[in-house]
Amino acid sequence: MSAGILIAGGGLAGQRCCETLRARGYDGPLRMVCAEAHPPYDRPPLSKELLAGKLEREALTLRPPRWHEDNGVELLLGRVAARLDAAARALVLEDGERLAYDQLLIATGSAPRRLPAADGFENAYTLRTATDSERLRAELRPGGRLVVVGAGFIGLEVAATARALGVEVTVVEAAAAPLEAVLGADLGRWFAELHSDQGVDMRLATGLEELRGNGRVEEVVLTGGERVPCDALLAGIGVRPATAWLEGSGLPADGVPVDAGGRTAVPGVFAAGDAALPFDARLGSHVRSEHWEAAVRGGQAAARAMLGLEPGRALPPSFWSDQYGLRIQHLGRSAGADAVTLDGDPAARDFAAVWQRDGRPVAALLVGRPHALPEMRKRLVGDEGST
Ligand code: FAD
Repeated sequence: MSAGILIAGGGLAGQRCCETLRARGYDGPLRMVCAEAHPPYDRPPLSKELLAGKLEREALTLRPPRWHEDNGVELLLGRVAARLDAAARALVLEDGERLAYDQLLIATGSAPRRLPAADGFENAYTLRTATDSERLRAELRPGGRLVVVGAGFIGLEVAATARALGVEVTVVEAAAAPLEAVLGADLGRWFAELHSDQGVDMRLATGLEELRGNGRVEEVVLTGGERVPCDALLAGIGVRPATAWLEGSGLPADGVPVDAGGRTAVPGVFAAGDAALPFDARLGSHVRSEHWEAAVRGGQAAARAMLGLEPGRALPPSFWSDQYGLRIQHLGRSAGADAVTLDGDPAARDFAAVWQRDGRPVAALLVGRPHALPEMRKRLVGDEGST
């Protein structure tokens, strides 16, 4: 009997891979190794509706409870991939069990970067799992004081959700503007104002000197010596691929380069989602794409490649964010752009910014314009840079 297809990582990319395999007629063995105790669930609500208390954890599951059983997908819950023995086509779990495979998908996602200064403080959080979100939620009380370190999308979403719950929020960011590396200084400043207007204390171009407290962070000392009182701290300083377990396998342990079908350099091994580095034809390099849509497309493309089918049509990478009820969408990659045009009214929170290179659109930011997305996607599809 064939060993079938094995998926390391029970998240979005792994789930979409299973669905595509079954939809395309694969009827062999299909197993998914899930480090968490829950079937695959959706992460975007962790910084939004779940954190706000507007959704229950059960509502996050990507499929109804019986879906895996009904579709012949064996879930190995609470089991952790620890090593890849590619020569023997086996995945070795933390508990020592060896699982043979004919084809393997690496879909272990990513993990938050640690803030070393926060180690050992029980009210210092990162946000990746439903449990992380529930623990942070329990700290968010009206009038409480939250310090968010890092003004990336996760940090800003948590700041927005916490403000809506009546929490006093300070955001500490080393760069001069939030999201400066993705959006540039001007649009980054627009995000800073969006949050200041809602009462967030934005501390830009500022670092952390020290965290003080006895078991819990009680005070954050900023560079320059100012002290900010703190009831809870969230470190939102980025993620790294959760692929350290690939050490010694022949594949890189810091994100796995893949082609359009999710194939890695090792025969029979594919990767998708945050763990993968898709090839960007316009930039001519493998680039991380740590967003929901990339995980969906990557999981689907890997399933197709496993079955010998062509990958679906390449589309520009895209992601969304929700802050203060405002839908924010980003498409494409602005790297290498030589001009930015603005349409609409940033003060009214209704605008589009389009990055161009040699007169062709390569990236766009839409604020408060959810219905403009399909049209903008069409404009960008002409561009060869896509994943
Ligand atoms: P994951 O969904 O993280 O799944 C990976 C799974 O593998 C996890 O369950 C993990 O426990 C498991 N795993 C890890 N290591 C092992 C191992 N060794 N063995 C077995 N299992 C393992 N994207 C957007 O586009 N828009 C948003 O608004 C947005 N909001 C987000 C908010 C939050 C708080 C977070 C955390 C992410 C958000 N994202 C958003 C990003 C999006 O959710 C991720 O890009 C997507 O979940 C990636 O899917 P994945 O399958 O690669 O990884």
